[in-house]
Amino acid sequence: MTGEPQDDCLFCKIVAGKVPATVVRETETTVAFRDINPQAPTHVLVIPKVHYRDAASLAAGDPAALADVVREAGEVAADEKLDSYRIVLNTGSGAGQTVWHVHAHVLGGRGMQWPPG
Ligand code: C5P
Repeated sequence: MTGEPQDDCLFCKIVAGKVPATVVRETETTVAFRDINPQAPTHVLVIPKVHYRDAASLAAGDPAALADVVREAGEVAADEKLDSYRIVLNTGSGAGQTVWHVHAHVLGGRGMQWPPG
C-alpha cells in the first residue's frame, strides 16, 4: 500500500502529465481519460491521483479517494449521456489487470452481457 507517486507507474505519469492521454475530466483527486483500446463506444478510465495498486488497497488506504473515483465515473456517464453503464475494477492478473494503479473502467453505449467474460 502506498499513496505516493511511483516512478515506474504509467498512470502516475499520466497524472503528472508526463505521458499523454485524452483527458475528459479532472478533479483535485482524480483524472478521467479515454482508454487507448476502447471496448465500447464509451470507454473511459477514472483513476485516483494517489497511487494504490487496486480498489481494495485504495479503500483501505484512502477511502475518500475511492468514493471520488466512483462519483467521477457517474459524472463521466452523465457527460456521455449514458442511461446504463458498467464500472469495472479488474483486480489481479487473472482478472485482466495489466496496470498496477487502480482504475475504474466506465463502459457504455452498447448492450452488456452477463456474466462478463
Ligand atoms: O484493467 P486493466 O489493467 O487491463 O486496464 C488497463 C487499461 O489501460 C487497458 O484497457 C488499456 O487499454 C488502458 N491503457 C490506456 N492508456 C495507456 C495504457 C493502457 O488507456 N497508455
